[in-house]
Amino acid sequence: MCGIVGYLGHRKAYPIIINGLKRLEYRGYDSAGLVLMEKEGFGLVKTKGKVSDLEEKSKYLDNGSTLGVGHTRWATHGEPNDVNSHPHMSNDGNIVLVHNGIIENYDSLKTELQQNGFVFHSETDTEVLVNLIQYFKDKENLNLTDAVRYALNEAIGAYAIAVLSKNEPGEIVVARLGSPLVIGIGDNEFFIASDATPFLEFTKEAFYLDDGEMATIRMGEEVDIRKIKDNLSVTHTVQELKINLQQIEKGGFEHFMLKEIYEQPKSIRDTMRGRLLVEEGIIKMAGIWDYQEKFLNAKRIIIVACGTSYHAGLIGEYLIEDLARIQVEVEYASEFRYRNPIISSQDIVIAISQSGETADTLAALKLAKEKRAFI
Ligand code: GLU
Repeated sequence: MCGIVGYLGHRKAYPIIINGLKRLEYRGYDSAGLVLMEKEGFGLVKTKGKVSDLEEKSKYLDNGSTLGVGHTRWATHGEPNDVNSHPHMSNDGNIVLVHNGIIENYDSLKTELQQNGFVFHSETDTEVLVNLIQYFKDKENLNLTDAVRYALNEAIGAYAIAVLSKNEPGEIVVARLGSPLVIGIGDNEFFIASDATPFLEFTKEAFYLDDGEMATIRMGEEVDIRKIKDNLSVTHTVQELKINLQQIEKGGFEHFMLKEIYEQPKSIRDTMRGRLLVEEGIIKMAGIWDYQEKFLNAKRIIIVACGTSYHAGLIGEYLIEDLARIQVEVEYASEFRYRNPIISSQDIVIAISQSGETADTLAALKLAKEKRAFI
C-alpha cells in the first residue's frame, strides 16, 4: 500500500521520481522520501505527509542527478514521522535503501547488529535491513549486489527494495518477495517502480521481477537478474505493456482512490455477473468448473485480508451471502494465525492482498491450508 520509483539514465532523475511518486499516490501512504546520487554523495530528503510536501522540501535537489529512487511509506513499524520515513541509511553513511513490506524477524536481527556496534535512529524494520547489508559488505568484503543477497537470505518477510551505494555510484540493486516490482527498459535508461504508471510516457518495454529475485541495474549493461536464494542467473523476456496514460489518469475525480471507490460497485457487479452464475442458490464459477463441487459443499467461506483489502472483503461478504446464500466471515489476516481459528476441510478460504500486509495474509493462507481448508 505504498510505492517505489527509481531512475537510472541520461535524464534528470528528480522530476521523474517526484511525478512517479504522485502517480503512485492512489496506493495510499503516510510519508514520502527520495535520494539522488550526486557528485558529493547522497542528496536525501524525507518527510511525513504528502508527495507535494516532499516536493516543497526537496526542490533544491533538482540539479541534474541522473540516478535516484523515491518512496511512499505506509507505516508498519514505527509511527509516521520524518525519521521513520524512507530512505534509510546505513551507519557508515554509504548505503541507502527504500523498502515496501515487512521484515518479520527485524527484532532479532536488530539485537545481533546492536551487539556488533550498530546504532539505530528509527523504529522501522527497514533500518535493520540497510545495516545488515553494511554488516555483510564489511565483514565479507562484498560488492553491493552480493551484500544485498547475503542480507536478504537472513531476512524473513515480504519486500520490494531498492538500494544505492556510494561505493558503486552507477547502479541500483532491487529485489522482490511478496511486493511487486517492475523494471522499465528505455533507450539507454532504466526505470523501476511498484507498478508501471510512473514511467509509461517514457517506455512501454518492461518486465516484472518474480518473487525471490533480485536485479542489478547499471548503465550500458543488461540487467543482471539472480535468484536471491542461490545466486542462479535468471532471464526475463521484456514485454510490451498494454496500458496507456489515460487509463491511469484520475478521470475527473480529485483522488485516484476516490475514482476506484466509485467504480468499485460497478466493477464488482460486472465481475459477479461475468464469473458467477447464481441459479437457485448454486454457484457455478466460470473457468474453474473442477472446483464447483467444493463451492456447492462449502460450509463457509472465510475471507482473510488486511487494511483496504479487508474492506473489499466485507463487500465480498455482502455480495456472496446475498447472491449465493453461503455463510461468509471476513477475518483480519494479521490476527488469524495467532488465535487458533476453527477451520475445516469444508471451508473455503479466500485471501485478498495488496502489498505491505502480504506477509500476514500469506501466513494466514498457510495456516488455513495446514488445517485442510480449500484455499
Ligand atoms: N515496514 C516498513 C516501515 O514501516 C515499510 C512500510 C511500507 O511498506 O511502506 O517503514
